[in-house]
Amino acid sequence: MLTSICGINWGDEGKGRMVDLLSRDFDVVCRYQGGNNAGHTVINERGKFILNLLPSGILREDVVNVLGNGMVIDIKHLTEEANRLRAQGIQITPKNLKISDKAVITMPYHVLMDCLEEERLADKKFGSTRRGIAPVYADKYMKKAFRMGELLNPELLKKRVEDIVEWKNLTVVGGYNHAPVTVEEILDYFKTYGEPLKDYICDTGLYLNEANKQGKKIMFEAQLGALRDIDFGIYPYTSSSSTIAAYAPIGAGVPNLKLDNSIGIMKAYSTCVGEGPFTAEYFGEKAEKLREAGGEYGAATGRPRRVGPFDVVASRYGIRCQGADEIALTKLDVLSGHEELEVCVAYELNGKEIKEFPFTDVLDECKPVFAKMKGWNCDISACRKPSDLPKEALDYIRFIEEACECKIRYVSVGAEREAYIKMY
Ligand code: GDP
Ligand code: MG
Repeated sequence: MLTSICGINWGDEGKGRMVDLLSRDFDVVCRYQGGNNAGHTVINERGKFILNLLPSGILREDVVNVLGNGMVIDIKHLTEEANRLRAQGIQITPKNLKISDKAVITMPYHVLMDCLEEERLADKKFGSTRRGIAPVYADKYMKKAFRMGELLNPELLKKRVEDIVEWKNLTVVGGYNHAPVTVEEILDYFKTYGEPLKDYICDTGLYLNEANKQGKKIMFEAQLGALRDIDFGIYPYTSSSSTIAAYAPIGAGVPNLKLDNSIGIMKAYSTCVGEGPFTAEYFGEKAEKLREAGGEYGAATGRPRRVGPFDVVASRYGIRCQGADEIALTKLDVLSGHEELEVCVAYELNGKEIKEFPFTDVLDECKPVFAKMKGWNCDISACRKPSDLPKEALDYIRFIEEACECKIRYVSVGAEREAYIKMY
């Protein structure tokens, strides 16, 4: 059985947290796109963990974790992240972590180029996480990237390093007027951070196909949300990879298999880290209050996240892109203590109300149309079943469910693993 866990909004919906919870019923958890620009915070009985590259299933001893071919892997970051987790008592060995030989390696010069370009753009910057993601995906499609499997053949690798360094310096030196990248530093880098990973590298597509044949349950863990997808998101303020569920079988290495279901993770309000149009954005005191209540600071970068009320227009679009069969609505507890709650139910464009999410450029002209709902004043973080919730919170859930036309199966009311409600 193949299930995808994907983001409905702009990312940071709590995917890591839901993967940590739902992976109890799965044998394999697989990341299929993106790199260490992801930041998933997970809190369970073993501690508090921040995961950038490792699937959230790594926190369960009996789950095998896969880094799929659709990913871009910063091998230094991976080494440090794994060591940090090991220091927190998590076992990571080739038995429970498998890295695709076809996954692409994010190099230090990709990080450098990401920073140089954001600095060149100055006030027109994209709000990149500066982790080299756009440059490395660009190189992948230019066919000038290194793949993990190349680490297994040092002789061939050396020749490719020479060719790629020569090409890369055309831009690093010629374009950005920066000091050149050298062959020696790249070879050293591979020796330090690549060689120790050799035993983890394999054909993960083959592994997943075998696992599927044996009836194992496989979960795909997305990074970011639908609105950051390279094709369907708010381009160019998107990530450089496919964040949508339909890409999961490809990015995991099993294009021959079909998803059985897609669980969309959707936040009870809106947040957006970085630049780009964000129609229902709150500013000033209102924003401050919501940001503080939700602890909305980026896990990967520490940047304050932009916040706003729940956006039906954007979320319905996200649900459509993700083909979500059901929803986990997260962080409902954050909305406690408001007399009244706003929900963005439509956008106003040129004096008309629209309900379908428009082309990115048009978003700049859209104004949010709000519906008002009654809030609740009590703490709901200890609620564990629907009947524990105050009527106003239940009404809020039902309102969103109907507006979005997708069943809400789980509602989370706290960051800890068990702080959730199963609605049906
Ligand atoms: P991801 O990137 O989608 O995995 O989400 P992040 O981990 O970046 O952001 C979600 C944040 O909300 C994390 O800090 C979680 O610990 C926290 N969180 C998740 N679910 C809940 C919840 O139901 N209530 C509260 N208060 N916090 C939550
Ligand atoms: Mg995140």
